[in-house]
Amino acid sequence: MMYLEEIFSLRNRTAIVTGGGRGIGQVIALGLARAGAEVIIVSRSGGQETVDLILKEGGKAYELCADVTNEKEVDKTLKTIIERSGKVDILFNNAGICIHKDTLNATIEEWRNVIDINLTGEYIMARAIGRHMIEAGIKGSIINMASMSGSIVNIPQWQASYNASKAGVIHLTKSLAAEWVEHGIRVNSLSPGYIATPMSADVPEDLKAAWTPLMPMHRMGTPEELIPAVLYLASPAAGYTTGADIIVDGGYTCI
Ligand code: NDP
Repeated sequence: MMYLEEIFSLRNRTAIVTGGGRGIGQVIALGLARAGAEVIIVSRSGGQETVDLILKEGGKAYELCADVTNEKEVDKTLKTIIERSGKVDILFNNAGICIHKDTLNATIEEWRNVIDINLTGEYIMARAIGRHMIEAGIKGSIINMASMSGSIVNIPQWQASYNASKAGVIHLTKSLAAEWVEHGIRVNSLSPGYIATPMSADVPEDLKAAWTPLMPMHRMGTPEELIPAVLYLASPAAGYTTGADIIVDGGYTCI
């Protein structure tokens, strides 16, 4: 096997992708499958489209419906995955939402919903998978979806709940990395800049136009441009990388 193929190979690995039915999750699921992993898509409305794309390329995948904020559903889903696939080696903890609203007009329910899905949901998933990895002696990789919004405050839209949730994800990641290092489990986060997906497609065009001069590359990223960073974190190539936040933002946060 070629050197690069060997260190980035995910052959015989099982990966869960939450929110893998569309957007970034769908593209990352394809990337993980191309590197050899069996991929399980977990979201509330399912991910058959992603599964079909992976199967068409000769990969292995299936979907299960679960809400990541519901601990019972997550535990039941994990039980099914262990019965079907035997184990989980990789979690791409990606499901998330964003609400653009200034703080004085946002409701407490909106705040709670964003924190519940983006932060508590990732905590519930990471905890369930971490427990499984520790019990089974799997030296796995957990990749939490953060955002550049966890390090900077986006303008001109206001989204305090989103920014706070993603800052929480970055520090949750470091906390779990330290806690589980003795078990050989690596926990890292990914912080993309603006990426063109259904989430960002809902954004009004005038707002997108306001972002362009703020982006050093003057364009949004594509989900495909996130695949290499995820493959790195998921694979043996990142054997000495844990507690890191990998920023892939076209330079947004450096100016
Ligand atoms: P999308 O809105 O396209 O996809 C979000 C996915 O999350 C959907 O598949 C959705 O499926 C799933 N999801 C939402 N809530 C839940 C839940 N409670 N339980 C299970 N699944 C859920 O978003 P993106 O692909 O754009 O974003 C993916 C992640 O990347 C998010 O965490 C986002 O914050 C982050 N990100 C996105 C950026 C961007 O510019 N797009 C930039 C930086 C970070 P369903 O509704 O069926 O459950």
